[in-house]
Amino acid sequence: MNLIVRDGLLVTPEYMLRADILIEDGVIKEIGRGLRPPAGFEVLDASGMLVLPGVVDEHVHMREPGLTYKDDFEHGSKAAAAGGVTTVVEMPNTLPPVDSGGRLLEKAGLLKPKAYVDYALYGVVHDGSVDKVKEMLEAGAVGFKVFLGPTTGNIPPPKLSSLVKLMELSEQHGFTVAFHAETHEIVEFFTERYKSQGSSPRLHELARPPLAEAHAIRTIGSIQEMVGGRSLIVHVSSKQALQAVSEFKNRGVQMYAETCPHYLVLSSDDYDKYGALIKVNPPIRGREHAEELVRALNTGLIDTVGSDHAPHSPEEKKAGVWDAASGMPGVQTLLPLMIDLALRGVVDLRRIPLLMARNPARLFKLWPWKGEIAPGSSGDLVVVDPRAEHVIREEDLYYKHKTTPFIGWRLKGRVKYTILRGNIVARDGVVEGRPLGSWIKPVDNMASKRF
Ligand SMILES: [Zn+2]
Repeated sequence: MNLIVRDGLLVTPEYMLRADILIEDGVIKEIGRGLRPPAGFEVLDASGMLVLPGVVDEHVHMREPGLTYKDDFEHGSKAAAAGGVTTVVEMPNTLPPVDSGGRLLEKAGLLKPKAYVDYALYGVVHDGSVDKVKEMLEAGAVGFKVFLGPTTGNIPPPKLSSLVKLMELSEQHGFTVAFHAETHEIVEFFTERYKSQGSSPRLHELARPPLAEAHAIRTIGSIQEMVGGRSLIVHVSSKQALQAVSEFKNRGVQMYAETCPHYLVLSSDDYDKYGALIKVNPPIRGREHAEELVRALNTGLIDTVGSDHAPHSPEEKKAGVWDAASGMPGVQTLLPLMIDLALRGVVDLRRIPLLMARNPARLFKLWPWKGEIAPGSSGDLVVVDPRAEHVIREEDLYYKHKTTPFIGWRLKGRVKYTILRGNIVARDGVVEGRPLGSWIKPVDNMASKRF
């Protein structure tokens, strides 16, 4: 817990600077050149390395409780630690779903002994839980999730009246609602249309057109224009979705957008190679969408990059295109894929601490404790060697099932150390020690604040 990280190149949204970071009792105490640590401090030489804030992944489905045949929190949080993620915000579509204060407290307790990184929890809002939002907030929810389209756990989309109530509460209490934005009816209609056309994995893309995303985003934004509140549109995958988000942002609506690495580095050309392994919702689309998403990362139209870590069993992924489960594991490859894009000059390196630490921490009331390299913040860092290369190998993945298309990919840069509150929890991708993760409740009330 007492550590000095010596002579690394700090990468923050504002500057890059060579400095030492002194972490005492798990908290960043001092940043500067030539710091002299008190006796008993561990010294980590980071010369020639990049030092970033520990990643806050605001979008993971670790599948516990109830779906642990897909994966569990021990495997998932170890994978997070190995990949440079120090805080995960865990989605609520488990069995049972987290839709009451009691369920949230139960889940927090269940995960604690298995947590290799810190974690915060979402509550889910459906027609039966919109009146339990306040009790979930009091129990420690950092935000809420709404599924407008069909998803794992089969949580039905809420009525429009429930969404109005929810966004009124968001405005009043200053929390963020994360939306899976695909309109159910549109997905159903196109799925029926294309099911008769065979079993090519490419049909998944046609069954969930950009229209489904853009329509859902416009529904959410229109409600927000009337009643306010804050939304995060997760896993934005298309040009049309970006267009809809930008319209509402330009009109002053507090709408934010997330995308995921798989939408940036894969395209519909990859369906022939990977099949249903890359079946995700919304789908991987044409190259022109990926290019537009990269542009939006660099201009600030996209606010966060999360993994949408969503593991399934190999059997569920091997079924044909219409029956295979949607989603892939991604928490361990999240930062490595983004660092590779940065070191190749595709994404500005200083965007990474913004998109993957500060912004997600602010949206989910974890900032400035999480998501920042600053005195008083949690001593969560990730040290990256920018000159090394990294090949993703099956045997290095901590997932219960290694159902990822990224095995064998060669990436620029390598995550060397992951530091959680001053403890080195992973070295060279190998997780060390016992589970030190703790449950984090909201630390900052952002009600009516903007960023
Ligand atoms: Zn998700």
